[in-house]
Amino acid sequence: MSSFHLNLPTDTSRPVPMALTRAFTENWNAFIATIAEVAPSAESPGNVVEADILRKMENALECLKSAKEILNWIYPRGTSLSFEKGMRIAAQMREAGFPGEWAEDVVKGIGRKKAGRPATKRQIAILAKEMRLRDPKRWKWRMITAELCDCGSATHTVACQDNLRREILHLEKVLSKFGCALDLGKTR
Ligand SMILES: [Zn+2]
Repeated sequence: MSSFHLNLPTDTSRPVPMALTRAFTENWNAFIATIAEVAPSAESPGNVVEADILRKMENALECLKSAKEILNWIYPRGTSLSFEKGMRIAAQMREAGFPGEWAEDVVKGIGRKKAGRPATKRQIAILAKEMRLRDPKRWKWRMITAELCDCGSATHTVACQDNLRREILHLEKVLSKFGCALDLGKTR
């Protein structure tokens, strides 16, 4: 059932990516299973119970939404488009007959970050959470901030610390929402 070719984390020494992978796989498999179940009855004549099909479709949709939300934590977003890739996409778009302005927009986007929560913040939150899991006594908030904050200053403030904590709380919310909370080294 789960023969997808997504590049999912497999490093067992990384508890957070592994938990995210488990949560993704569960939701993905539940989505596929529900669709496999609902499709034949929706497409065959006879004993169709519309309310049943609707409910199963809603379940499938929830699982798919969850799987996508989890993937946003697994794959860093916001990486900028490289020159080579941008030029290639623009050329392909022109060849395929898309309006010229569309290809121009792609070229303009080269080097710029895509919209959305900066990827690095999520990756930093995952690393910070893992430090806390490994050794909560050693990794106090101030030390984690000094180690991981990417604000660019030489010294880090309470605001840096608060930002990092907020990001970790967001990660923890996601983990518990999907039933894979990692409880050691609580952040509160
Ligand atoms: Zn900072």
